[in-house]
Amino acid sequence: MFAFDNSYIRLPERFYRPAEPARAGQPRLIRLNRALAEELNLDFARASDEDLAAIFSGNNLPDGAASIAMAYAGHQFGNFVPQLGDGRAILIGEVVDTRGRRRDIQLKGAGVTPFSRNGDGRAALGPVLREYLVSEAMHALGIATTRALCAVATGDMVHRDTKLPGAVLTRVAASHIRIGTFQFFAARGDAEAVKALADHVIARHYPELGGSYRPYRGLLEAVSVRQADLVARWLSVGFIHGVMNTDNMAVSGETIDFGPCAFLDEYDPRKVFSSIDQRGRYAYANQPGIAQWNLARFAETLLPLMDGAEEENVEAANAALVEFGRVFQERWLDLFRAKLGIAGAQEDDLDLVNSLLKLMEDGEADFTRVFRALGKLAGGAPTEVLSAEFADAIGVADWLQRWVLRQEGDPRPANQRQAAMEAVNPAVIARNHRIEEAIAAGISGDFAPFERLAEALAEPYRESEAFADLQVAPRREQRVSRTFCGT
Ligand code: AMP
Ligand code: MG
Repeated sequence: MFAFDNSYIRLPERFYRPAEPARAGQPRLIRLNRALAEELNLDFARASDEDLAAIFSGNNLPDGAASIAMAYAGHQFGNFVPQLGDGRAILIGEVVDTRGRRRDIQLKGAGVTPFSRNGDGRAALGPVLREYLVSEAMHALGIATTRALCAVATGDMVHRDTKLPGAVLTRVAASHIRIGTFQFFAARGDAEAVKALADHVIARHYPELGGSYRPYRGLLEAVSVRQADLVARWLSVGFIHGVMNTDNMAVSGETIDFGPCAFLDEYDPRKVFSSIDQRGRYAYANQPGIAQWNLARFAETLLPLMDGAEEENVEAANAALVEFGRVFQERWLDLFRAKLGIAGAQEDDLDLVNSLLKLMEDGEADFTRVFRALGKLAGGAPTEVLSAEFADAIGVADWLQRWVLRQEGDPRPANQRQAAMEAVNPAVIARNHRIEEAIAAGISGDFAPFERLAEALAEPYRESEAFADLQVAPRREQRVSRTFCGT
C-alpha cells in the first residue's frame, strides 16, 4: 500500500530517535483525504473505514514504515530552547508522489516520543480538526503548505484543562526539516551534522544548487526567497500563523504547524489571536519582520559552512536578508495589485493599496469581503456593495475615484476584470467562528459541519448558494478573538 523510501533515517543516528505510536483504544475514521491519497500513490480502494482507522491511528503501521521522532531546537518567542524535537509527532516514512516529489508522512498526536518532555504526545480533537481545515484551506488557496491526509479519533480521552476526546492527524509535508533542525546541531557545535543536513536539504528541496559554486550561500538565499513569497501570500489572504517560532518554519517553504493560526475577519494589522502571544510578537503585520529574524537565525547556522573569509560570509548573509525584504515587498505589492484588479505597475500603487487598508482598518471592514466586493464593482455593481462593508465609509468614495482612474487604459472588459479579481480574492475562508462551530459539533459526535466546511474550503474562489452562510462575516457577538495551541 505504501511504497516507502525513507531517506531521513539514512542520515546520522543523532538526527532522530526511534518512536512507536501508542495504541489507540477505539480508533474511528473521521475523514480521509482521498484526492491527496491518490496524489501520494496510496491505493485504499479495498480498505474499510476500520482498516483506515487502524492505519492512521498508528495501531497498524504499514509494512516498510520506520517510525522516528526528529530532533530539533528552536527560538520560542525569541528565547532559544536547545532541545525540542517531535514530542507529539511520529514520522512513519516518506513516499514519492505521482509527480516524483518526496513527501513525509507523519502521525501527529500518536503518543509519547523520546522528545515529549512532560507532554503526553497526544492531540485533542479540536486542534486536529482545526489543522485539517486550515491546512487544506491554504492548499486550496494556492499557498504552499503541509497537507492533511487523514483525521482519526482515538477513542481515548486527553487531559488538558478538561478531558477532551483525542485524535490523530496524518500530516504530509515536503519535509519536516525546520530552521530549528539546523539550530539543534549548530548549538552543539556539530558542524559535521549541520553540513550533512544542509546537503540533504539541498538535494531534496533545492537540487538546482547541487554542485553549485557556493551551495550554502545559495541555500540561505533560496530559502529566503521562498519564505518571502510565502509570507506575502499569507498576508494577501489575511492569514496569521500565530506561532512563528524558528521550529515552526520549514526550510522547504511550506506553511507548517497550524496551532493558534487564524484568518482575519475585520482588518487590523496588529491583530493577534493566539492566547499565548501576549505581546503581539506574531501579529498579522509583524510576520514579514519575524520571518526575516528567523532567517537571520538560519544564517547563523550556515555561516561556518560557507567557504569565503568570515567577513565576506557575514556580508553575503546580510545581503540575503536584505534581499528577503526586497522580494517580500515586491511579491506583496504584486499580489495586492492583482487583488485590486490593476494591471501593470505604477509609482502610486503602494499608496493606493495602503490607503485602502487604512480605510478598512478605520472602518472595521472585513478583509475578505472588501476585495470580493471590489471585484463586483469592477464588473459593474453599484458602490454600495463595497461601502456596506464599512462601519464607517468616510473616504471610501474618494478612494474609489482613485481606483477607477488607475484603471484607465486597461483594455479588459468589465466581466473579465471581475473574473480575474475573483480568481485571486477568495469568497470562502476558514473563518474562526465556523471552525469553532465545526469543532464543537465534532466533540459532541457530529462531524457534518466539519465535512461541510471542508467541502466549501476546497473551492474558496467559488461563490455558491449552498455555502452562502460561510461567506458572511461574523456578527460582533460571533467573533472569536482567541485561539489556542494544540497542546
Ligand atoms: P508547537 O507549539 O506545536 O510548535 O510545539 C512546540 C514543542 O512542544 C514541540 O517540540 C512539540 O513536539 C512539543 N509538544 C507540543 N505538544 C506536546 C504534547 N502534547 N506532548 C509532547 N510534546 C508536545
Ligand atoms: Mg511546532
